[in-house]
Amino acid sequence: MTHTSVSKLQVTDTQIKTTCPYCGVGCGITVDKQIRVSADLTNEGTVSETVSQEQLSTLIGDINHPANSGKLCVKGTHLLETNGPQGRLEYPHINGERVSWNKALDEVATSMRAAIDEHGPDSIAFYLSGQLLTEDYYVANKLLKGFVGSANVDTNSRLCMSSAVAAYKRAFGADTVPCCYEDLSHSDLIVFVGSNAAWTHPVLYQQIKDAKKQNTKMQTVCIDPRNTATAGESDIHLPIRPGSDAYLFNGLLHFLANNDALNHRYIDMHTQGFAEALQNTSNADVASVAKQCDVSEALLKRFYALFANAESAISFYSMGINQSSSGVDKANSIINCHLATGKIGKLGSGPFSITGQPNAMGGREVGGLANMLAAHMDIENPEHRNIVKEFWQAPNMVTQAGYKAVDMFEQITNGTIKFIWIMGTNPVVSMPNRNAIEKALAVCPTVVISEVVNNNDTLPFANITLPACGWSEKDGTVTNSERTISRQRALISPHKAAMPDWKIISEVAKRLGFAEAFAYEDAAEIFCEHAALTGFKNQGRRDLDLSALASLTKAQYDAMAPIQWPVTEQSPMGTKRMFTDAKFFTASGRANFIPIIPRQALQITSEQYPLVLNTGRMRDQWHTMTRTGKAAKLHQHTQQAYVYMNPFDAAANKVGDDDLVALASSVNPATLARPIILPVKIDNKQRPGELFCPIHWSKTASSHVNLAALFTNAVDPISGQPELKHAAVSVSPLTPNMQGTLFSKDQISPQLLNEVCDYYVEMMLENAWVYRLAIFQQSVWAIEKGIENIHQWQATLSNKLLLQHEIYTGDNHAQKPPYSQQSSFTLSCLALKQAKVDYFWQLATALPTSQDDWLNHLFKQDCIDNSDLHKLMHGEVDSSFAQGKRICSCYQVHESPIIEAIKEGIDSVQRLGERLKCGTKCGSCKSELSQLITQHRTQTFNSESIEITVEM
Ligand code: SF4
Repeated sequence: MTHTSVSKLQVTDTQIKTTCPYCGVGCGITVDKQIRVSADLTNEGTVSETVSQEQLSTLIGDINHPANSGKLCVKGTHLLETNGPQGRLEYPHINGERVSWNKALDEVATSMRAAIDEHGPDSIAFYLSGQLLTEDYYVANKLLKGFVGSANVDTNSRLCMSSAVAAYKRAFGADTVPCCYEDLSHSDLIVFVGSNAAWTHPVLYQQIKDAKKQNTKMQTVCIDPRNTATAGESDIHLPIRPGSDAYLFNGLLHFLANNDALNHRYIDMHTQGFAEALQNTSNADVASVAKQCDVSEALLKRFYALFANAESAISFYSMGINQSSSGVDKANSIINCHLATGKIGKLGSGPFSITGQPNAMGGREVGGLANMLAAHMDIENPEHRNIVKEFWQAPNMVTQAGYKAVDMFEQITNGTIKFIWIMGTNPVVSMPNRNAIEKALAVCPTVVISEVVNNNDTLPFANITLPACGWSEKDGTVTNSERTISRQRALISPHKAAMPDWKIISEVAKRLGFAEAFAYEDAAEIFCEHAALTGFKNQGRRDLDLSALASLTKAQYDAMAPIQWPVTEQSPMGTKRMFTDAKFFTASGRANFIPIIPRQALQITSEQYPLVLNTGRMRDQWHTMTRTGKAAKLHQHTQQAYVYMNPFDAAANKVGDDDLVALASSVNPATLARPIILPVKIDNKQRPGELFCPIHWSKTASSHVNLAALFTNAVDPISGQPELKHAAVSVSPLTPNMQGTLFSKDQISPQLLNEVCDYYVEMMLENAWVYRLAIFQQSVWAIEKGIENIHQWQATLSNKLLLQHEIYTGDNHAQKPPYSQQSSFTLSCLALKQAKVDYFWQLATALPTSQDDWLNHLFKQDCIDNSDLHKLMHGEVDSSFAQGKRICSCYQVHESPIIEAIKEGIDSVQRLGERLKCGTKCGSCKSELSQLITQHRTQTFNSESIEITVEM
């Protein structure tokens, strides 16, 4: 018998460079990784067992990456906290039953084959994600468009930037982003249009702020209905009527023409269609535009004059332009102004659409939209189809465009599409008209979902679930908003049975009989094939050309540094800026002016639905929170979804902060059994008559948060991009009979929560979970359960949650919630397990006062002392924890000490950082710090309303 006698440990430390998986800035990241291999040796000296452990320790910005030069925002900074194994989809499942990969892949291929045989290739659809890597996208697109013969490949990027794509193609003859990030530091004028860059693209925003410090000529303008963090710091804020952007830019073109600010030489030599475009602006004088846009003439003139006089200008636009039923026209109205002044193709100038997703650009490059082919070629162009067909040796090349996202789900409901494969996205939350999406998925014969997480709002509709590799396990490339291709490198081995997306798709392709065309060994092979296709029969006629990267070896691919396309023999080091020679990709080589007739939103208000609903992102969250939702620190800036409402609308609806309201729209009327319910946040940064809600929260963490259900299927007729910034809604105040706040050491299941209340929303602290609970008046649920008062509610909660706990209860008649004059009766319950706090709740007729930070502290303690216990039971909050909203997520700095410091005379963000550390790590909170300085320093001199510029 052999005995183990010695253990040997080998530790290897490496640094890996990769890319942030969130927004389209595409920041480079450096991660420290440790591999510990312990080997048990037998007494003969041979290895009996080896155990290998991988650990990622620190994550910092990559100082050498051109996108961020070492900087990261709060989301990127906390990436490793979102990378744990909790909540992962670990194994393939068919109808909820765990199966082997072989069985799952066979089942996917068999279902596809059956649908193709019976209903034709167009019965198959793929719905992809801007978070897939370029290599994943390339393989999915190739399989469907070249081998299955269906063009129904669309993506959540349809919801993000498809209007920008269509506008570039109309103007330039190709989907070419002209600018680069360097331009942002060398421009005299940055116009943020429909972009709250301070929150959504913080690293670029801080780059602009830094450049502004150096370049005193630089001016910033923000065009946004909301007074956002970006608007608050801009030299001019134009709070336009939602959706009126095209009026404003038509007006700018009119102004340029009437104030001798056109670049006639550029227009004559390099463009076509100017006269027609100008003709359409004939009524767009300043007075008319100011009226249409609901802004002051003086402010409008100031902006127009700035644009006319600036030597260089960038229009930095994003979802506020794109997510519109006239998004393509809006983007073209912007591009028209750049062409008319020649402010394009030179340092510091151009129309610059910024993508929301990390690899929306990569998806565009490989044709991941239903109306595109691979390598920026067009489905409708027979020559392009032949090029791709020849290159792929494709047996079933598509001949026409497929269904775009909204149409795709409609065609499922209609029965045309029988099989959908959703990869890495959560359409039930992100698509408009949620009820229609749910209906489509419910009737679709086969729904396959490749996912990283095991819980989101879309997964319950899957027949087959496939575990995909997460960010830290994936290997490939992504392209950011300035055309920089960066490597995303695998940091650790795949979790459990997870597989890279390209491999899953290739395995299915092999089972469909296409083994030879999908025999990829690794991502490098796929990338080289994609690069070769971009150069195939190109000869400078197509913008996307990566031919110089087509023969990279695996080692070269692995070591590839970030590079901006095109990358050709003539420009082997990449290309910063496009159109420097003013040659465009149209047949004539000239850029097209597009005549624009501005249009109103399709979802217009009415007597029944009188309020405009706008949507957007919060600073510390991303998309549907399947990743950022895992980091407690990222929850503290904004803990839950609110509906932000102007004080006039709040007064008209008789609601105050934190009051619950139901939102309804034509596609989600108030009569539905589960309406959309949100707490109110009164916000004078909203225009009257307009509401704002963040997009991130969903039913995964609440009973009634379901925002996309309010939007209709209204889309842009060219791009198919949904109108996700402009719904017509009504608001109805709700009057809960009883409300409560429940803190729990462990997460509580939705099933259990549904058994103890009508309404709940889940929030996360570092050491506990928090649930806001409510029971509504005349609640059917409460009547059935026999709960008529908070004592009965208390008993229900106790029965469900408390088994072997030491329990303390208290009641308090004196508490007054801050937004109500009525006194409230509060019942408290503290449940300890081995002296540690396990649950604490307060139930009342009105919402109990928030005490999150204090409770968060108590949940961490080994035992609770008598003084804390006394305070808890009497509704007293420890004052040292009542410090207001958390502003700096990195160093956990709250509002109160910041305001105190400002009132003591601290007058710059830098000095606040020196005193409190806030804003000194990722910098995402700098714009809020700046606003707090303006707000509270002004208050000190309030009598004169002194205007102060805050130095960053
Ligand atoms: Fe990631 Fe933030 Fe950089 Fe965007 S700005 S890529 S979220 S670190």
